[in-house]
Amino acid sequence: MRNAETNAPPSGDSITVPLVPPQVTAQMPDIADLSARLRFCPSDGRIWLGDQRMLLIHLSALAGLRRELVNSLGVEAARGLFTRMGYASGCKDAEFARRIRPDDELNAFYVGPQMHALEGIVHAEPVRVEVDIDSGHYYGEFIWHSSSEVDAHIAAFGMSAEPVCWMQIGYASGYTSIFMGQPILHREVECRGTGSRQCRIVGKPVHEWDDPNPDLVYLQPDSLASLYRGAAPALARLDPAAPDARRQPGLVGVSSSFLAAYHLLQKVAPTDATVLFLGETGAGKEMFARTLHTSSKRADKPFVAINCAAIPENLIESELFGVERGAFTGAVQSRPGRFERAHGGTIFLDEIGTLNLPAQGKLLRVLQEREVERVGGTETRRVDVRVIAATNVDLRAEAKRGAFREDLFFRLNVFPVRIPPLRERRDDIPLLVRHFLLKYCERHGKPVSGITDRAMDRLVDYDFPGNVRELENIVERSVIMAPDDGSPIDVGHVFAFGDEVHAPFYGVAHDGSLIDSRRPPAPPAAPRPAGVIDEILSSDLPLEQLETRAIEAAVQRARGNLSEAARMLGLTRAQLAYRYRKMRG
Ligand SMILES: [Zn+2]
Repeated sequence: MRNAETNAPPSGDSITVPLVPPQVTAQMPDIADLSARLRFCPSDGRIWLGDQRMLLIHLSALAGLRRELVNSLGVEAARGLFTRMGYASGCKDAEFARRIRPDDELNAFYVGPQMHALEGIVHAEPVRVEVDIDSGHYYGEFIWHSSSEVDAHIAAFGMSAEPVCWMQIGYASGYTSIFMGQPILHREVECRGTGSRQCRIVGKPVHEWDDPNPDLVYLQPDSLASLYRGAAPALARLDPAAPDARRQPGLVGVSSSFLAAYHLLQKVAPTDATVLFLGETGAGKEMFARTLHTSSKRADKPFVAINCAAIPENLIESELFGVERGAFTGAVQSRPGRFERAHGGTIFLDEIGTLNLPAQGKLLRVLQEREVERVGGTETRRVDVRVIAATNVDLRAEAKRGAFREDLFFRLNVFPVRIPPLRERRDDIPLLVRHFLLKYCERHGKPVSGITDRAMDRLVDYDFPGNVRELENIVERSVIMAPDDGSPIDVGHVFAFGDEVHAPFYGVAHDGSLIDSRRPPAPPAAPRPAGVIDEILSSDLPLEQLETRAIEAAVQRARGNLSEAARMLGLTRAQLAYRYRKMRG
């Protein structure tokens, strides 16, 4: 694949110059509004750009992947994969662009090239850019400097006869198509990977290209057999924002840990197997149970939920299995229990770990014999009920220490499904927020237009000890707190009661360095004011006390982290620890 001579554009298209006068290409706006949305959260293993989780990966690893894909699938198929990957990224960034710079069309458009730079992919220098969403006019010409993809391709294969910036060109097309609301195709007319001095791209609406198909084919997710089909459907199919129609209403999520649980649920739903949901309080176990029921063949039969922890211990048996009149004081009439009422359908036993041992014994018998006997009765009644149980405690450990019957545990533990806590599926937070916003704006009759990016960032960073239920409560409260004029929900509405605890994260300072987001930005390094000595001398404080106060302040500012406090004071950790211990007696 070595060919440094060819330098020709990929296809015979000449660039037609539109009759519209070129828009004056102003300087790209300051990138600070975008870099402020890039946050590193090392304690959590996550990087965020807006509400999208990002990755910092080695370019050399990407080059290796590229080599493997080209060698195993061939150039055409590999090129298609990378182009579509870029296309999907571009679509995501375009959704972001409209939100972050709503006021100026051209500045909003520049979010794309600027994000491409911020993400470390390429520096795009605009040559000529004309953007008019209303009339649908778009013309874009950019020079690409320091393309990462050229570096990766040359590392893997050396020089190429064809342009090699596949992912980047996909990004440009995806970004512009979503931004403009119509299919736009970008083409690389010069590429450094073919020996040109730099890469140069040109973009226009698909219908303005004389022969767009040779490039559109790389956007087709299907095989190359679908070559030369119409352009528009191919672009539409790639829209990553398209809702997943298979999803049940109520369960909301796209994160991998959520989808893993959802996949298990879909597998087990059509059977009659007993299912045990494991997960923290508020993680959505009842929602999963309901979805399991509605996805099963019992969907049109009753779904009866009971929270075992919410029923007094002396009443739990009569609640579950029913009671005959006169069985005990207060049992003035006979009534069926939850099992009988769930006949033909599903019973959901939440917090099953709180059942007392006699009730556990009875439950075990029901599961074995499939019949119930009411409290105070002698008659047995057949029940056809599918059992779903849920717990937030470790039942196996409970069984070991004798608090839970081991035989019942094995009966229940046929098909365990772990529901991840919300902090393990942060990618789902934006989706859930929008879902609950719609729900509660409607319920409370509030015209809330949305949520600010700042507020969304804070939610994504929050740890949610109360899981989805806590998020739902926060959103409902925010809707109530928000002003009635339809302005978006902001940070003040979201965390109005000071219940916010965040994982530490880092943002990007103007000079590209990382800053701890919880601390106010450091003022520019200035020489220590001469007045500080005067101040100390006139403060009447003995030197020893001054030291004590400085140490206290540093430890406090470092939130108890002695190593960090030691750095502030110019001491080793051991030196600080010694003094700190001494002064605290
Ligand atoms: Zn290139």
